[in-house]
Amino acid sequence: MNRADVEGKIVFFNRPMQADLISTFEAYGGCVDQRYDGAREAAKLGAVGTIVRSMNLRLDDLPHTGAMSYGNTPVNVRIPSAAISTNDAERLSGILKIDPKVKFYFKQNCKQLKDVQSYNVIGQITGSQYPNEIIVVGGHLDSWDLGDGSHDDGAGCVQSMDVLRLLKETGVRPKRTIRVVLFMNEENGLRGGRKYAEIAKRKGEKHIFALESDSGGFTPRGFSFDGPDYKINQILNWKPLFEPYLIHYFKKGGSGADIGPLKNKNLVLAGLRPDSQRYFDHHHAANDTFDAVNKRELELGAATMTALIYLIDKYGFNSIEQKNKIKD
Ligand SMILES: [Zn+2]
Repeated sequence: MNRADVEGKIVFFNRPMQADLISTFEAYGGCVDQRYDGAREAAKLGAVGTIVRSMNLRLDDLPHTGAMSYGNTPVNVRIPSAAISTNDAERLSGILKIDPKVKFYFKQNCKQLKDVQSYNVIGQITGSQYPNEIIVVGGHLDSWDLGDGSHDDGAGCVQSMDVLRLLKETGVRPKRTIRVVLFMNEENGLRGGRKYAEIAKRKGEKHIFALESDSGGFTPRGFSFDGPDYKINQILNWKPLFEPYLIHYFKKGGSGADIGPLKNKNLVLAGLRPDSQRYFDHHHAANDTFDAVNKRELELGAATMTALIYLIDKYGFNSIEQKNKIKD
């Protein structure tokens, strides 16, 4: 972009998500700068507004919303920005090829409301042997308002609660404390996750593992892990136990936004990794609704999470001293 091209104009960002990446989250990551930073960058060059192609691999008529930032741009020079559906983006792109001088009009009535007090929701089974060792499992309660947030992240919330239910139903009495945390305000600034970590630190709570489900209620494929290698390697040894259920993805990588603030050098963080092919069909759009969640896929995710939590509760993590002893 340069000033001569965009000054006084509406800038149209139309870079599609890269379809040849198997991880749609990677494709999203490579694209979302258009929505997040586009208006701020275009405003610097004198643009009057921005239109963004929705972050969606599928061609349909649904606009997808999401976080954006004006950075430190003063309020009086901020420009409006809107997402249009992928079909509309294709249409607009076609029209622009025929007539580069086409006029585009848009009007918005969105506004930022004042903050209100809200809460994380927490429940736990207190450990029978090591009650001070805490294993967290969670998702986030809030969602964008154009759908009902069933995949993002109602699925993660019910799966996390289901971990406790499944442990109870199978008669497992956890040795460590298993705590479900339904985090508030992930989408708009991670306030629940930050507050949870802040209070945990203040109380001197010892978290040994945290698992988040925030990638949709689709068929589980495995987990990604973040933390010390020797602990992650211990978990990787359990991979064969999951493989008969077609759960095979055990890799070092990201975990979840809400549990991120808990990160320290001893803690293992993990994210459930479901099949990601349909996630962005629904993400932050009006079709992120209850009917789009397959009950069986959702339940398989909850069972997968429970199995991992069960193993971590049962065996704990080897201390670095134990680990060195095994090596010797
Ligand atoms: Zn989410």
